[in-house]
Amino acid sequence: MAARKKTKERRKMIELDGSAGEGGGQILRTALALSLASGQPFRIDNIRARRPKPGLLRQHLTCVQAAVAVGGGAAETIARNSEGNEVRLGDTCLQFTPGKARSGDYEFAVGSAGSCTLVLQTVLWPLALAQGVSNLLLRGGTHNPMAPSLSFLKHAAPCFAGDGDALLELELRRHGFYPAGGGEAQVRIHPPAQGIAAINLTERGKPLRAWAECLHAGIPRGVAARELGVLKSAFGWADDQLRDRGLRANEGPGNALVVVLEYENITEVFASYGDKATSAEQVAHRLVKEVRGYLAHAAPVGPHLADQLMIPLALAALQGRPGQYFATELTEHALTNARVIEKFLPLRFVMKPVDAKGVVISV
Ligand code: ATP
Repeated sequence: MAARKKTKERRKMIELDGSAGEGGGQILRTALALSLASGQPFRIDNIRARRPKPGLLRQHLTCVQAAVAVGGGAAETIARNSEGNEVRLGDTCLQFTPGKARSGDYEFAVGSAGSCTLVLQTVLWPLALAQGVSNLLLRGGTHNPMAPSLSFLKHAAPCFAGDGDALLELELRRHGFYPAGGGEAQVRIHPPAQGIAAINLTERGKPLRAWAECLHAGIPRGVAARELGVLKSAFGWADDQLRDRGLRANEGPGNALVVVLEYENITEVFASYGDKATSAEQVAHRLVKEVRGYLAHAAPVGPHLADQLMIPLALAALQGRPGQYFATELTEHALTNARVIEKFLPLRFVMKPVDAKGVVISV
């Protein structure tokens, strides 16, 4: 595990300010992931200070608990709040001393509609660096605004493995929408035998398929047809590109409209979510705008994948496999993530605008 070896001598406490840059939960998740991967302890103050409800929400607390479990449990990995007690909901300060990440069978339940994919984001890379396959049972939200959906991860996951073999297998057992929650996913992580694969994504390649699905449960009839109708007229898609996926009523209430664009080298996924205050047409138009923004561009990596590819890009580079990718834009999430990763790993991100190709990201 190159990242761990190269940085082992630097076990001094890393200090993080949770209000820096984007100031959200991703600072904490990246820190937990890289603390486990590199063996370096950290302290974070002002957790999620830029959010309306700062501090640890259920999702973030579950991320901390998941990191402790993966790091050998409380006997090896220590997470304490500012009073030196066990970490609790609402805490804004955390000190984390990592043990060694171990593969195994784990079960993590957010216990609300908080995103379970963000719990996966926390433990994915430590477990990808561990010896042996891990099986994770995740419970919580699977389709949440402001988080990668299970649909996003399922289609976009191949690019986490570069050209390597599959890293992630995802099985969605039950959808969980905000605010009802109750979703369930089984995830299998296969650490790549040759180490973390280099990510080289400079071109989309030929377009292969474009399609949409409307996931819905327990919401008024007709919503799916109206949402898909907007996509049909906006993109001129045929009926077989538009899937109406009515789910069991007990998986709702909820509604996610998802667009998948498959290219030779990348699959990008976009989603928009229904709620009581938003009409079906507004939900669909929001998505059309986002998809059009991507289609108008040439860079392969969209704004969300751009921050999520930074950890594997960095870990692969430390193992001697440098890479780079072109992203449509440089988001505050990506900038903030780069700064956190640089605190744990001995490298610097280079993020340069390149004409129509967006921003080239390398280390
Ligand atoms: P908070 O900011 O309230 O703490 P959070 O814990 O959800 O919330 P953020 O810091 O906002 O954390 O990070 C959200 C993560 O979810 C980022 O990695 C971002 O790229 C990803 N994400 C957000 N929206 C989408 C989306 N539509 N598709 C894929 N990924 C997404």
